[in-house]
Amino acid sequence: MRTPAVLGGSPAFPDGLQFARPTSPPLNRVMARLAPSHDRGILTNGPLVRELEERIARRLGCRHVVAVSSCTAGLMLAFRALGASGPVVLPSFTFAASAHAVAWNGLEPRFVECDRLTFQLDLVDAARHLGGAAALLAVHVFGAPCAPAKTEALALEAGVPLVFDGAAAMGARTGDRPVGGFGDVEVFSLSPTKPLIAGEGGLVATNRDDIDHMVRIGRDYANPGDYDTRFVGLNARMSEFHAAVALESLETLDDQLAVRALLASRYRDGLASVPGLHLQQIEPGDVPTWKDLTVSVDPEGFGITRDQLVEALGADGIDTRSYFDPPVHRHRAYTSCATDRLPATDATASSVVSLPIYPGLSLRDVDKVVAAVRAAPAMAGRRPI
Ligand SMILES: *Cc1c(COP(=O)(O)O)cnc(C)c1O
Repeated sequence: MRTPAVLGGSPAFPDGLQFARPTSPPLNRVMARLAPSHDRGILTNGPLVRELEERIARRLGCRHVVAVSSCTAGLMLAFRALGASGPVVLPSFTFAASAHAVAWNGLEPRFVECDRLTFQLDLVDAARHLGGAAALLAVHVFGAPCAPAKTEALALEAGVPLVFDGAAAMGARTGDRPVGGFGDVEVFSLSPTKPLIAGEGGLVATNRDDIDHMVRIGRDYANPGDYDTRFVGLNARMSEFHAAVALESLETLDDQLAVRALLASRYRDGLASVPGLHLQQIEPGDVPTWKDLTVSVDPEGFGITRDQLVEALGADGIDTRSYFDPPVHRHRAYTSCATDRLPATDATASSVVSLPIYPGLSLRDVDKVVAAVRAAPAMAGRRPI
C-alpha cells in the first residue's frame, strides 16, 4: 500500500486534482446557436429560452417548464406561486439556497432530519412536523432521487403542497420516471457544477397550469404585459446566451451522465468493502445523476475521522468538499432555527465528504483517489509533531 503524502509519501496528484470541473460546451457552437436571436436584437427570454423549455418539458414528460435565472429564484417563485403562508418543512441537510427560498418569502423554515444512509429527507421525522405546515420542501440530495413517490404520498396525506429542490438532479430517474414530474413543482439548477449547465440558470417543472402561469409572469416582475403587476415578482428571466449554453449542454447530457455513472461504479468497486466507509445509499431502481459522489466516514471502523481524511487527501493533492457542513440549522443566517433536535443531521454533516467526480476525470484518476482513501487511515498512528 502506498504511503499517503500526509505521512511523507509523494502526492498522488502533484499538480492537484480539482473537486469539480464544468463541462462547458464549445463556444463556437454556442455562438452559432445564439446568432439568430442576437441578430434580431433579442437578448433575453426569446426563442432559445422557449426551445429549452419545450425540450426539457418533453424530456421530463411534464406539462410545463419555465426557465429562470437560477434554481434559487425558481424556488422563490415556486413558493410565491403556491401562496404558501406558514412554516415550511424541509431538511437541514441541504444547500442553504433551499432554506433561503423559503425565508425570502417571509416563511419560517421548519428543519427536519435526514437519513444517515441515504442522506435524504427522513420521511418519518417530516411526518411528525407537518402539523400546521404550509408546504413540504424535499431535496434530491447530491442528485439522487429522494423517494419522490413516497414523499408525494406523505404530502397528500398531510394535505400540504410539495416542492422539490432538484438542483442537482436533471437526468435522475426513479424506475422509469424521470425526476421533474413529482409533487406540485420541481426546480433544477443550471449553474456550472450541475449536470446540465447554462452558466447560471434554473428550470421550474410543473404539471399545474396555475403554477406555470404564476412563475412565468413572476420571473418578469409579475407583469403580464400591461404593467399592472399582479404580485411582488422578480426579475428572474433567462438570457438567450444562457439558453444557448444550456441547449448545447443538453446535446451531451446523456453521454455525460453515462460517464458519471461509470466513474461512480468505479468508486463503488474500490470503496464498498472499506471498513467504516459508506457510500451514499441509492434505492434499488433509482438512477442518480452522480453530481456528487459522497461517502460517510465512521471513525470507529475506518480508523480516522472525516476531517483527517480530508487532510490526507488534501496532502495528496485531492480537493474535496464537506457538503453540507455545517447543516443549515447551524448557519449564522438561521440562528433563530438553531436546535439540538437534529442529531442525525449533525452526525451526517460532520461525517460525510464528497470526492471528485466529473466527466473530465479518468478511471485511472478514480483508482488513484480510491488508493489514497484506502491508504489514509495509516495516519491514525502519526506521532504528533
Ligand atoms: C446548487 C444548488 C442550489 C442553488 O442553485 P442556483 O442555481 O445556484 O440557485 C440549490 N439547492 C441545491 C440542493 C443545490 O445543490
